[in-house]
Amino acid sequence: MKGNLKCPRCGSDGIQKARLLYEAGTSSIKMTSSGIGVTGGGSVGVGVATTTGGTQTELSQKLSPPTKPQRSTGLILGVFALIILGISYTIGALVGGKIVHSLFGIGFMSVGFFLIKSLEESLKKARAQYQVDYANWGRLWFCNRCGDTSYVE
Ligand SMILES: [Zn+2]
Repeated sequence: MKGNLKCPRCGSDGIQKARLLYEAGTSSIKMTSSGIGVTGGGSVGVGVATTTGGTQTELSQKLSPPTKPQRSTGLILGVFALIILGISYTIGALVGGKIVHSLFGIGFMSVGFFLIKSLEESLKKARAQYQVDYANWGRLWFCNRCGDTSYVE
């Protein structure tokens, strides 16, 4: 470890990597929740919230990494339902000889495909941002003296 790392705010050299502090706090949470899991059954989350909560856990929360953006399955399924509705409406209209009505179905489908495309694009952007945030988090340091966090190369 480099000896010349100092807090940019107060000049203290008692700084630690946020990642290590976070992982130390996380492992203590896991130990607690496994103990609770024996008696608590499904209410593990509640057990964790009540039994932990020392300064380490709070610090761990403060220094937690960015959350990875997830694809919203419910939203995607909803949009797929819209597309399927559009397809069946279009087929029904075409079978019934109602060409104009089939355009509504095609409209539904187009909106559905457009929504999926924009959902995927925004997820892609969020994931790219997450990569940046995560890399930054790897450079985050915590000062034991003033409690300030800073990015150190
Ligand atoms: Zn400091």
